[in-house]
Amino acid sequence: MARPFTDRQKDIISLYSKETSNQMLRLVPLRYEYFEATNEDTLLTGSSIVLEGRITSPLQTVRYRGKQSVTRFTFSTESNDYKVSIFNRPWLKSPDEKTSVVVKGRYDGSQRITASNVLFTTLSQQPSVVPVYPLKEGVKQRDLRAIIAKTYQNCKEEFSDQMPDYLRKKYRLSSLSSAIRMLHFPQNPQEVLQATRTFKYQEFLRYMTEVTLRKKMGMYKKLTPYSISESKLEAFIKHLPFELTVDQQMVTQEIISDMTSDVRMSRLLQGDVGSGKTAVAAIVAYAATLGSKQVAILAPTELLATQHLKSFKQFFKNVDVVIEGLYASMPNSVQLDVIERCRQKQVDILIGTHSIFQDRIFFSDLGLVIVDEQHRFGVRQRQMLYEKGTSVDVLMMSATPIPRTLASTLFADMDVSTIETMPSGRKKIVTTLIKENSIRSILDTLIDLVQAKNQIYVVCPTIVESDALNVKSVTTIAASLKAAMGHLWRIEALHGQLKAAEKEAIMSQFSAGNIDVLVSTTVIEVGVDVKQANIMIIYDAHRFGLLQLHQLRGRIGRNQSQAYCYLLTSSSDPLSLTRLQTLVDSDNGFHISMQDLALRGPGDLLGIKQSGLPQFMMGDIVNDQHILTIAKEDAYKIVYSENTEDVQYVNWVLNQENSETFFE
Ligand code: ADP
Ligand code: MG
Repeated sequence: MARPFTDRQKDIISLYSKETSNQMLRLVPLRYEYFEATNEDTLLTGSSIVLEGRITSPLQTVRYRGKQSVTRFTFSTESNDYKVSIFNRPWLKSPDEKTSVVVKGRYDGSQRITASNVLFTTLSQQPSVVPVYPLKEGVKQRDLRAIIAKTYQNCKEEFSDQMPDYLRKKYRLSSLSSAIRMLHFPQNPQEVLQATRTFKYQEFLRYMTEVTLRKKMGMYKKLTPYSISESKLEAFIKHLPFELTVDQQMVTQEIISDMTSDVRMSRLLQGDVGSGKTAVAAIVAYAATLGSKQVAILAPTELLATQHLKSFKQFFKNVDVVIEGLYASMPNSVQLDVIERCRQKQVDILIGTHSIFQDRIFFSDLGLVIVDEQHRFGVRQRQMLYEKGTSVDVLMMSATPIPRTLASTLFADMDVSTIETMPSGRKKIVTTLIKENSIRSILDTLIDLVQAKNQIYVVCPTIVESDALNVKSVTTIAASLKAAMGHLWRIEALHGQLKAAEKEAIMSQFSAGNIDVLVSTTVIEVGVDVKQANIMIIYDAHRFGLLQLHQLRGRIGRNQSQAYCYLLTSSSDPLSLTRLQTLVDSDNGFHISMQDLALRGPGDLLGIKQSGLPQFMMGDIVNDQHILTIAKEDAYKIVYSENTEDVQYVNWVLNQENSETFFE
């Protein structure tokens, strides 16, 4: 029978996972604690110890500074007596002399121990390996252990193995349900290793199978290759409001030569945020129209699609090209009109959200599809792209730059073009780490900056506050800013729960300079381009991935004056602070993406989520490249195999697409 979760447990689950509570089983322990008796003959000062014995003196507790206290007692093992101190356990009671006690802590030399834990148990009753999970504010290890135990009990019958059995046998991997059991409730260190090996291979295999499927699907010759007028293209480029950077010119060449060849293009354009991918997209879109082809541009959000529409109209103002937008929030009659004109080839460039690829859209002669933020786009959706035209070229754009060799493995289904240099004349954004989740130390500076006609983005991790967890939300921050600063600043809140029209209204007010401070969630993360907004404040910065913060920060620094980014955090976790410091020190997306991978703890569900890199629960694309390579070879065999098991696996991968079941 299913065991229900308490309200507090539900709150915690929602903090760790947007999906079902079953996803809690994906929470990878940061490390494990080992309860094995330490050898007392070789104790080193400063080392960790676990000892079993008895308490042989009364407990003495001294309280100081409010709630702090220290408790001292004598602890005797079979061979030695120790003086033990433990902090902040005033409730500890003396057990009788016969009760066995396990002391865990640090050996301080001279028979003294500072204990971190005193357990009234024997070592043989204690599990010898205990997982330690990544904590978030307000959450305790024992909360997570309880939630995970409950979840496991509730759904352990539901796991079915998908990976072909012969592979599981070949590499001596475990079944899914035993791997999950060994991950969270291991009986010994070997089980932890076995679970890890199993998960790494499983998730790499699934990912590489997906990539190989995409590649298989995309390989064919174009039915109608075309050529373009180079002089017209050059004239278009000359009329752009800026001169292209060398890298922009180079990637434009690469894309155009694909488009004019007789093999369908499948190319990834990667470049740091702000490197000018949109301009490249506009040029190659124009090139396709010169070849009498239609172009579709897909963005993950409506906000981003409207921004693209705006920039495209600007870029195309001197040429005779019809550009239309198509989004779910447009009145149906307008949508129908656009759809009809598309079908009759009266629209050259259609810009919209992924939903424009609903069944009812037909192009007369679609030649090029550009997908912004390619990672939100799966195999099935890609299949639909190819079906919209007889020879569609596909250009994927990604703002997560990674080294070429890694890119060519992870994105084996595409050719890769990279913009490495930024347009010249950009000032480095001054980024400051503030170790307090409050703006009070910078308030005077902010008042001056707004006075000088600067606009501010304020970013919060959530929309509304959760009771159990102390996280700043858009709603509370907007309300408290309005209360404190409303007499000076015009403040608005923007988040994903608003209607599309409301969001757009707020964005255009912000663009027009009628709003000074925009408080939002990460909806502004991608593509938003408001040049006068030059200041960004990010609350609870440690809750975001580094790349995500880098993307957010990329919204500012788009005009001539100095831009400022403030990262606020009350975290004192050294790893979090080191990660955030990376952003203070660097504005190079390649560097930041590698640091993000290197510093991301295992099991970090946030980090890479928005980055466009595939998310692996355990697999580390930098350190586990050998497993990735094996999985790549196996995936290739599976995809081209006719063996029933392999075919079943392929079908399963196709059906799982975009779901977050990362257990296979
Ligand atoms: P992203 O690669 O993040 O999509 P955008 O295409 O939005 O970057 O470009 C960021 C900003 O840089 C835009 O305001 C754009 O007009 C400007 N820009 C693009 N290319 C150049 C260039 N070669 N020189 C100067 N500014 C440029
Ligand atoms: Mg962009």
